[in-house]
Amino acid sequence: YAINMDQLVLEQELGRGNYGTVKKVLHRPTKVEMAMKEIRLELDSTRLNGILMELDILHRAVSSYIVDFYGAFFVESCVYYCMEHMDGGSLASLCCFPNGNVSLPPSLSTSPGSVWTSSPPPLADEHLCRIASSMTHGLEFLKTELGVMHRDVKPTNVLVNCKGEVKLCDFGVSGQLEKSIAKTNVGCQSYMAPERIKGSSPSGSNMEHAFTSYTVSADVWSLGLSIVEIARGRYPYPPETYENVFAQLSAIVDGEAPGLPEDEEIADEEVDVYTGSYSASPGQSSFMRKGKRRWSPEARDWVRRCLIKNADERATYKELLAHPWMQTDGHRGVDMVSWVAKAIEWRDRGGR
Ligand code: ADP
Repeated sequence: YAINMDQLVLEQELGRGNYGTVKKVLHRPTKVEMAMKEIRLELDSTRLNGILMELDILHRAVSSYIVDFYGAFFVESCVYYCMEHMDGGSLASLCCFPNGNVSLPPSLSTSPGSVWTSSPPPLADEHLCRIASSMTHGLEFLKTELGVMHRDVKPTNVLVNCKGEVKLCDFGVSGQLEKSIAKTNVGCQSYMAPERIKGSSPSGSNMEHAFTSYTVSADVWSLGLSIVEIARGRYPYPPETYENVFAQLSAIVDGEAPGLPEDEEIADEEVDVYTGSYSASPGQSSFMRKGKRRWSPEARDWVRRCLIKNADERATYKELLAHPWMQTDGHRGVDMVSWVAKAIEWRDRGGR
């Protein structure tokens, strides 16, 4: 069946991205809660059917690592895209500090609630492993089952729910849609692989970066960078680059690839804030590592293989899934449900 606006009851706003807003909606005929994304297009009516045809591939994207697609329709110059509602929101909102106010939607950057009073609940190695494993399975599914790359792998495009599931959304199935999107602002943090950025001339006054063609290994880079950001709680490139796109792109092309933080980099007090809030609840000790978090050598190696600057040497999904770190997932009894619950509580308390 085809979904249309008349069947939907609009509820609250879930978030705001570069392309438009995401609202929670109730689909009356089925009573299913959905997330509806509004994407404003630069009007070109001849493209509309092409876009809908291309989006149709999403009906085949049925995987436990991919956010379910329910349907899309047009109203005026917007495409509305209905998908599974993920009640935990994005991993970025659950475990990453915003980098200044530049990239925050107005609702977050201006409200008093956006003042960060505590750190996000720390992730343990096994949680990070489960996230990395889910993302890799999702990307591998897109490639082998649908023959598509994601093209926009980043923490805001990884959604979680209270069941502890981790799923990818927002992948580039429609080239036509991509071309028609009216971008309201350009993201301040780039997850692009070095080979997607070309033509850096560090000394030039009007430095220009041309974006080049690339292959699926570019998504592997973005995957690695996302995992590092999720582990660190911050975008891994230096803060000086947040407001200077060219400095940031140059850092990606010319700088050293980021990795998981050294154990000492996590200040004790950050963890203590968290411990203070949660030590009263039993069974949550796995979130603390006596003031310091440790990433396993396997985790470090896995990330390093994603973040090899030479695309030809970077790991493939097959290699990543066969890596010893991934092999530890599954027999560690990871409690994602509790972590998600705590992270949501922290976010809703005004941590972010
Ligand atoms: P971006 O343009 O940055 O990729 P999106 O427009 O995709 O962001 O989404 C903006 C925000 O809306 C997300 O960060 C997330 O918090 C929320 N969101 C998006 N899709 C869903 C969904 N299916 N369920 C719940 N929340 C969602």
